[in-house]
Amino acid sequence: MPYSHHSHSGQFCGHAKNTLEEVVQDAIAKGFHTFALTEHIPRPIEDFYPEEADSHTAESLAKLFDDFLVEAARLREAYAPRIKLLIGFESEWIRPSTHQIIQGIMERYTFDFFMGSIHHCHTIPIDFDRATYEKARDAAGGTDERLFEDYFDEQYGMLQALTPPVVGHFDLIRLLSDHRDADFKGMDGVWKRMQRNLEYIASYDGVLELNSAGLRKGLAEPYPCSPVCLAFLRMGGRFVMSDDSHGTDQIATNYPRLLQYIRKVGINDVFFVDKEAAPNDSRIAAGFSSITVDKLIRLPFWTTAQ
Ligand SMILES: [Zn+2]
Ligand SMILES: [Zn+2]
Repeated sequence: MPYSHHSHSGQFCGHAKNTLEEVVQDAIAKGFHTFALTEHIPRPIEDFYPEEADSHTAESLAKLFDDFLVEAARLREAYAPRIKLLIGFESEWIRPSTHQIIQGIMERYTFDFFMGSIHHCHTIPIDFDRATYEKARDAAGGTDERLFEDYFDEQYGMLQALTPPVVGHFDLIRLLSDHRDADFKGMDGVWKRMQRNLEYIASYDGVLELNSAGLRKGLAEPYPCSPVCLAFLRMGGRFVMSDDSHGTDQIATNYPRLLQYIRKVGINDVFFVDKEAAPNDSRIAAGFSSITVDKLIRLPFWTTAQ
């Protein structure tokens, strides 16, 4: 019975499918032990995605997030005997107002945990489509290397401001670049920044998510790629698993490959957010527990996983 710390539903996310309840039922059917509901935080109108421009105002997008939390709490209670649902959110890091939005929701609600992610650089989306990626790359000076440096600098700002308990898709910037499967070895400025960020995450006991969506999108390795995992392991870093699903057909996809990857990079313990473990962060309601990879491999989940 494995774990996922990152999901979206069509009910509360414009580029996902299915209701939140269908997502939960599918996670139960697939044998998840712990499954986190983590919709995106609201964004101001200047940062709307095209699909939101027709159907939303800034107010309605903010209300959608509030509605998500009400429905997530109902489902967590209703399905408690069958699955441990966690309620969190996935951050953005776009402009100074992003920090205010995050502070606002954290003042109003208590989350089991949250995930620090960035999807923009120079305020431009970097994982939306190739044309938008190229705009961001131009804004950074025209090369992948410059944009990667800026991405990891902006991520460092996010990490310092939020100290997120879990860091989402650490190297998402690879996705639409010409260096999708780069090992970053020729990019000294990029690699230095990545190491700095990893050291910072390790310093406050932050956890990296192993995100199988990278595989779904055709990358050779999940996020983060193996040089990152190896560097973080050497720092004593911890990892959680995620499918980053955007609907039932993506729940647990590529989990067997993710498990192979975990073994290949030499991770011996997989962590998960656990409401029964004491939080070591006063802002959130849950702590972390772990399972050895030897035990994880023997769970019945893997006989039915795709
Ligand atoms: Zn994300
Ligand atoms: Zn996501």
